[in-house]
Amino acid sequence: MHRLLRRQLKKIEYDDGNLSEKKFQDFLEIIDRAYKESDEDREFLEHTLEVSSTEMHDLYEELERKSKTKLAQSEARFRALAQHDTLTGIANRFALEEDLKRLISLSKRTKSKFALLFFDLDHFKNINDSFGHDFGDKLLKEVVARVAPKLRQEDIFARLGGDEFVIVLTNVEETKLAVLLEKIIALFREQWNVEGHTISISSSIGVVLYPKDGRNDVELLKNADIAMYRAKELGRDKFSFFTEELNEKIMYEMQLEESMFQALQNNEFVLHYQPKVEIESGKIIGAEALIRWNHSDFGFLSPSHFIDLAESNGYIVKIGEWVIQEAQRAIKRFNVIDTSKHLHLSVNVSLKQLQISEFYEVVKNALEGINPEQLILEITESVMADDIEFALHMLQKIQKLGVKISMDDFGTGYSSLAYLTQLPIDTIKIDKTFVDQIPHDGESGKTLIDTIIAMADTLDKCIIAEGVEHEYQCKYIQAKGCKYYQGYLFSKPLEEEQYRALLQKESF
Ligand code: C2E
Ligand code: CA
Ligand code: CA
Repeated sequence: MHRLLRRQLKKIEYDDGNLSEKKFQDFLEIIDRAYKESDEDREFLEHTLEVSSTEMHDLYEELERKSKTKLAQSEARFRALAQHDTLTGIANRFALEEDLKRLISLSKRTKSKFALLFFDLDHFKNINDSFGHDFGDKLLKEVVARVAPKLRQEDIFARLGGDEFVIVLTNVEETKLAVLLEKIIALFREQWNVEGHTISISSSIGVVLYPKDGRNDVELLKNADIAMYRAKELGRDKFSFFTEELNEKIMYEMQLEESMFQALQNNEFVLHYQPKVEIESGKIIGAEALIRWNHSDFGFLSPSHFIDLAESNGYIVKIGEWVIQEAQRAIKRFNVIDTSKHLHLSVNVSLKQLQISEFYEVVKNALEGINPEQLILEITESVMADDIEFALHMLQKIQKLGVKISMDDFGTGYSSLAYLTQLPIDTIKIDKTFVDQIPHDGESGKTLIDTIIAMADTLDKCIIAEGVEHEYQCKYIQAKGCKYYQGYLFSKPLEEEQYRALLQKESF
């Protein structure tokens, strides 16, 4: 260490305080290090500079103070230079924050209102991916060239980074705002010519009003972002105003998402079991496992509260793995009652799970100690949405293990018969929507469900109807050739204890 210090000190050539800025910084760094690292180094430094320990200490403090002032000075200089976005030339995030602060204090004094629009380009990533970043940059410049002339002198137009922009409309009349927003959205709908390519884009805008939707620049920007998120959720190419309910909804989702990652560890998920029955004998043939989340703050949550969220953040893969493992344990427990091991248990499988190669191992490991035919995987027609080859291959491998595959929500997707014949499917589950359409009198004309059952029959698959709530529906499907059903008519999804009690009553 000594040698290193000496060499550095030599380079700096300490000449009694007359240091250049660069040397000053270097020097400070050395002293700072010496102070932090060891007594030995400090002693060496004191000796080299021929100063006493107290003098050395004073020097250190003075240098540190100077350094802080210098830092503040250079930051201010840097800020002054950096008010503009280098790509488009409009204000950048920093300038926007300053302007907003100024505008807020002015609005407080004059009691005036303003609107802040937060927008980005829908699917901008795809544009960058397909045409390259240079192209993306040129498009952003075009956006500025098209939007800026429509704004008034006193409005603010800033780019936050990426494809995110902010417009602040001052002295705005709320009644005219919607028309104005529609005009801005329409600007994006016109065609864009960039580097000889003609492309179509759209934009989603989130809108907040001062003072209603935020007290300061940070809150306004955050809430405008939330409103933009909502505009995207509503299908993009739209504007959306911030509301308190929206805020609560987003906060709820954020809290839900945060707690989700601990839910497995905390054993908060539980499976309920909805029996499936054979119409003719009225006997249970198995059950569908349906997940519930026993949330520490929100109570018992049905899958509609969290499955979509888990699919979008990918956690569904972990949840799905647990469901299959829990299903295996449940089957073993049920086999104590059903010693012939004939009752099956079906689990819902999300497309995300099928796209991961480890899924095969998860299923394979879950077969230990059970009859493979007792496990059914329910998949929806969306497996054919993309990457059909991979999903197909995965399902074929799994089917070879002896596990059955069921097509869930049959008839609601966009599958063609040709696709269906390609998929390794054992059972077809007719969706509740078709069961709901069965006429009360049991006859009047042909309904869609006839065609659906006929279709499933043509494919030579086992057929089961879901969501059967009434006796007449049951009779109707039976007459059309569907032998099994699941629905409130027989039973709602049950807690394990209740389901086992039902099994006990039947003799196997
Ligand atoms: P699904 O697979 O279509 O499940 C059937 C849903 O219909 C269940 O709702 C069930 O409780 C309900 N149901 C059954 N019979 C009747 C009836 O007669 N009338 C009415 N009105 N409803 C009936 P649940 O349990 O809320 O599940 C909703 C959806 O959540 C499921 O729809 C499934 O897509 C998904 N889900 C449930 N568990 C899991 C899971 O472990 N993993 C995945 N990925 N998704 C799951
Ligand atoms: Ca299902
Ligand atoms: Ca369904």
